[in-house]
Amino acid sequence: MAFVDLHLHSRFSDGTYGPEELAAQARRHELAAIALTDHDSVEGCPGTAQACAAAGIGFIPGTELTAEHDGNELHILGYCIDTRNSRLLKQIARFQAVRQNRIREMVARLNQLKVPLSAEAVFALAKCRAPGRPHVARALVAAGLCASLDEAFERFLKKNRPAWVPKFKMSGEEALDLVHQAGGVAVLAHPGLNRADQVIPHLVEAGLDGIECFHTKHSTATTEHYLEMADRFHLLVTGGSDCHGMSKGKPLIGTVKVPYQHLEQLKARAAEIKQLIVTRVDS
Ligand code: AMP
Ligand code: FE
Ligand code: FE
Ligand code: ZN
Repeated sequence: MAFVDLHLHSRFSDGTYGPEELAAQARRHELAAIALTDHDSVEGCPGTAQACAAAGIGFIPGTELTAEHDGNELHILGYCIDTRNSRLLKQIARFQAVRQNRIREMVARLNQLKVPLSAEAVFALAKCRAPGRPHVARALVAAGLCASLDEAFERFLKKNRPAWVPKFKMSGEEALDLVHQAGGVAVLAHPGLNRADQVIPHLVEAGLDGIECFHTKHSTATTEHYLEMADRFHLLVTGGSDCHGMSKGKPLIGTVKVPYQHLEQLKARAAEIKQLIVTRVDS
């Protein structure tokens, strides 16, 4: 049986792998296909597509967008998106600017707490356009200001901790629309982590295509629960490891085994969405 991993991060957001390493790891774990889903970025997609093609592995371009509904943070995965779509790229550039400003604000808070970190040190370490809290955590560890990433999050960066800064978020509807107009399939990421099941019917009404049932942090019972929900709401089923490379100890790629049939259904939906866009442009 063939398996896929549809939730991976690279060094273009808060992961550590580059395109070649992602393809090599996918091969090592005998995955038939992978999707790259960097936070607020599609920059790694062309290179990873090439590396996967050379390694004989299927590739799905994707991204993971942060959204919000009634104060609940939601992550929306966009799959099979046109990574050159101008509206998508414009919005992503905006989210990246928000992320960079947020790093400066978090560093200013750390400085107020007499933690001598500079924003430049974070940017130099992140070397990407979509920096986030993991990069601040890594910079704190690299400067000897925290002993571990966990300590950095626990002391400073977790929600409501002293250096945490809230991030601007679009609405769930806006995220779904952004993905759809770029020809993509919109999937709710790791619902078991956000514990906001009440949001799902609203998202379904707004056009949600699928739900990430298989995820590293979903227990068997949680997976079963979302498989049942997917069935009830006629949603696609997806899954992935949410691997961030070497950033959190052991790499997770390949540890969540998603049967290939789910990718086939996802691709079929993507073809339908693209056809709808063509029809709309023609008429
Ligand atoms: P941001 O997008 O800047 O808010 O950062 C969110 C990212 O930080 C998530 O995607 C995870 O990769 C990481 N993260 C969140 N909470 C923790 C934590 N407690 N320990 C380590 N990493 C975390
Ligand atoms: Fe992340
Ligand atoms: Fe996420
Ligand atoms: Zn993720």
